[in-house]
Amino acid sequence: MVSKGITVLGSSGSIGVSTLDVLARHPERFHVFALTANHNVERLLGQCLQFHPRYAVMVEPVAAESLAKRLREAGSETEVLAGAQALEMVASHPQTDYVMAAIVGAAGLLPSLAAARAGKRVMLANKEALVMSGQLFMDAVREHGAELLPIDSEHNAIFQCLPASFAAATHSARDGIEKILLTASGGPFRLWPASDLQAVTPEQAVAHPNWSMGQKISVDSATLMNKGLEVIEACWLFGLPAERVEVVVHPQSTIHSMVSYNDGSVLAQLGNPDMRTPIAYALGWPERLVSGVAPLDLFATARLDFERPDVERFPCLQLAYAAHAQGGYATIALNAANEEAVKAFLKREIGFTDIPVLVGHVMQQASAGTPMNLEDIIVQDGESRSHSLSWIKNKKMH
Ligand code: NAD
Ligand code: MG
Repeated sequence: MVSKGITVLGSSGSIGVSTLDVLARHPERFHVFALTANHNVERLLGQCLQFHPRYAVMVEPVAAESLAKRLREAGSETEVLAGAQALEMVASHPQTDYVMAAIVGAAGLLPSLAAARAGKRVMLANKEALVMSGQLFMDAVREHGAELLPIDSEHNAIFQCLPASFAAATHSARDGIEKILLTASGGPFRLWPASDLQAVTPEQAVAHPNWSMGQKISVDSATLMNKGLEVIEACWLFGLPAERVEVVVHPQSTIHSMVSYNDGSVLAQLGNPDMRTPIAYALGWPERLVSGVAPLDLFATARLDFERPDVERFPCLQLAYAAHAQGGYATIALNAANEEAVKAFLKREIGFTDIPVLVGHVMQQASAGTPMNLEDIIVQDGESRSHSLSWIKNKKMH
């Protein structure tokens, strides 16, 4: 077996760390080609000393310098590169076979797209990239013969419940699919009355009941924006209209999503809530690999509950459906405004219930239609961020 070279974009984050955990279990199958982080020197240093990548990329130049010095002192041969452009270089490098796209937010778009354009196996956790660039990204996958494998647990579950011949690039073998049932935990405030949501603190919002994740996706899970982004992600990945992607609240997070077929069958994927399962699936596909995840104990699980999402208390879900119906410019605006809103909420500049208000406001200013090139995507993203920042500034003054 020829060992595959892996680039982990965002290796210092929650998905990055889980990816390296799975890779460490299969040293004969995989070697790490490149690791990247925004600025966490300590974490990347430890990872480099354990996995000996050829390259380590630090987006922040000062952090890159410090990492390079520490690695030299430790006698490491890993070469340190600085700046965002180096992310694209390692993601598309001829010695990279598979790319784990696990940067959070819009910052992941260019390197994820570079991996697709270089025809890599793209293991996509960075859902924001697909929300921003849907058509363009899927076209790149098709044109350059890339393999697109979803890491998001729901989309990975759906992928596992589709016929073996399904490929994201062509949407082949989709016959007979009636609906996708996208499960949602409901987040930490599922049972809270609407009147209490105004006073939610960042600490309460990032404490997810079932999953341990980065801060941004944890807040998104609490507002249900995460599920909204995932609806858009599912439409692109599986080539379905949004009417055929239904959100089902399932508080136990044991079923990771389902596919409903026209003969009445519903197929589900179950497991413990641990991202190493979808990561191992994408790394091994079409084979299965040991992931380190404990087997599911159904007797301990005991119950599986289902509810409809409450769109009154959690308007972000509807905003995402509305943005997708409106077009690509609106989904870019939705994502940009949400990223800025979450940052401001974590800094206590705006309240929890301001997040959907801000997103709805910024979405209204987006152009109609869908951008056909990267430049237009980046311009819309920038405009929506500056609209968001003025809204936040205005809010702080009153
Ligand atoms: P995280 O915050 O733990 O890690 C984010 C990573 O991105 C870090 O390595 C960080 O250094 C890097 N990064 C941040 N800003 C950057 C920038 N400007 N330039 C370059 N790199 C930057 O986040 P996470 O929870 O691992 O999530 C990563 C992605 O995976 C997100 O898109 C998230 O929605 C998705 N995802 C995560 C989970 C999960 O369980 N954590 C599940 C499904 C999907
Ligand atoms: Mg998910």
